[in-house]
Amino acid sequence: MELKPGMSALVTGGASGIGRALCFALAKKGLYVTVVDYSEDEGREVAFLIGKESKKLYAELEFPSSIFVRCDVSNAGDIAAAFKMHLETYGGLDICINNAGIGTPVLFFKDESDGATTWRRTVDVNLIAVIDCTRYAIQAMRSRKKPGVIINLGSASALFPLHTDPIYSATKGGVVMFTRSLSPLRREGIRINVLCPEFVQTKLGSIVSPRLIDSLGGFITMEKVVDGAFELIKDESKAGACLLITKRKGMEYVPSPME
Ligand code: NAD
Repeated sequence: MELKPGMSALVTGGASGIGRALCFALAKKGLYVTVVDYSEDEGREVAFLIGKESKKLYAELEFPSSIFVRCDVSNAGDIAAAFKMHLETYGGLDICINNAGIGTPVLFFKDESDGATTWRRTVDVNLIAVIDCTRYAIQAMRSRKKPGVIINLGSASALFPLHTDPIYSATKGGVVMFTRSLSPLRREGIRINVLCPEFVQTKLGSIVSPRLIDSLGGFITMEKVVDGAFELIKDESKAGACLLITKRKGMEYVPSPME
């Protein structure tokens, strides 16, 4: 899909890190952007800064260049409200990036609780919320009968086990297969792909041990991640595709094991 001014995008976890960078990159192309996050101050700031930049780049705008919606993606009602707000503001949805994600704060092996506050939360935010948001995005795209692209954030840890956080790896593996399973949507003009970067220096990425980062040759840059997302948006031949980005090999499409 060619990105054009006037299209619109919704990005979950848009207040910081990869989501924030994607919000700015999409706005630079002239897209209206809904920043969805539970982090209110940072999220509002992203929408405000996009507004300031867009005024310089695009003199006449039909709608507000960016809005922020406070939303905990683990709450189904919040998600419904975020999509509703986007559709009421912009009238349609061209791009949806399901990016909000967390690690497991207490290590699986050390946690003595029943998991309710630790790994269940990681599954809710990293996997269930992606499923919920994807459904809303499909509904929005179907109702308009125009092409749409959904990108889910997986991780290299979906393809190579992250021994320090098996729950994170499991949720991201789930995101990859969920996304691959939806490739038939391409028949309706909706392409859904998954982006799997290695470690990026964000709040989340910085939790990882420096030894692991060194063994991989360092962090990958935010520019590479944004390029990867744009590659998945642009390439019309890709549906259900998994794009891995590593420090050593750069970007490569990973075939499904049965392909
Ligand atoms: P980050 O912590 O910088 O940003 C994550 C954003 O998601 C934050 O703004 C946070 O407030 C938001 N968020 C978290 N839980 C939420 C919830 N329940 N509801 C709404 N918003 C919520 O992290 P990041 O590194 O930018 O990660 C973004 C995505 O990329 C995640 O899905 C992550 O798993 C994935 N990823 C990150 C790396 C990395 O090394 N940083 C590598 C591969 C994949």
